[in-house]
Amino acid sequence: MNIQYLSLEEIQERCEKLTNEYEIDEEKFYSIVEKWAEQDVRVEHKLIYSFTELLDVVSSEITSMEEYVGLTATCRLGCSFCCYFPIIINEMEAKFMKQAIANFPEERRKAIQSHLTNYYEKYKDQIEEVVSLDFENDADFKLKYRKTLTPCPMLNTDTNQCMAYEIRPIPCRTYMNYTNPNVCETNLMPKETISFEFLYSEYMGALNEFLQFLYEEGDTGFVQYPDDLYKHDYLVNWMKELTNLS
Ligand code: SF4
Repeated sequence: MNIQYLSLEEIQERCEKLTNEYEIDEEKFYSIVEKWAEQDVRVEHKLIYSFTELLDVVSSEITSMEEYVGLTATCRLGCSFCCYFPIIINEMEAKFMKQAIANFPEERRKAIQSHLTNYYEKYKDQIEEVVSLDFENDADFKLKYRKTLTPCPMLNTDTNQCMAYEIRPIPCRTYMNYTNPNVCETNLMPKETISFEFLYSEYMGALNEFLQFLYEEGDTGFVQYPDDLYKHDYLVNWMKELTNLS
């Protein structure tokens, strides 16, 4: 069967329509942290649940936008080209991810730990090279990183699946392809893909407000507020600590 994919121009037109017409439902983001602020549970629970629910809201907001302009992602299970891009998150997000993984069932946690131990051994030299790229000052760091073909630490390269899919960071869940999937296979930096990364500000805005509230209440749990929000690094650096998970 001959599949008719959208052209770059058609995708751009729909994105423009989104920019001009679509209103992000901010309330969805803030209602989550308001709900968890009132819950009578440990602060660690409040943090982890608000983090994971906010990630879900980012994904559901992307679905609403896609429905609004009739876009259907052509990304498919087992395709992992975007898992070779550099992923940069702040220390608070890294702590959320690590805590969420620490709370995974033992079997899954151990599988991740063993995968990571092998990963850091196998890609030692490549990792050294990519983490030396200055993402703050080098305009070409993405392409340079991409060229090394270093997989993300959370990617199972046997199955091409993310080992922490439900808590994958914002850059992963906002990067989409709406045309022929081959564009990802044949280009290091395909121009056809689009990113909904602007949703980051809604997600981080809600988390920041929540942390500020907890700070004023006197307990921010495992988060050092506000310092953790300002420290950014590659996921490959943040996840290394998980090899020591007991
Ligand atoms: S966290 Fe998961 S989805 Fe994101 S790049 Fe890594 S393997 Fe891919």
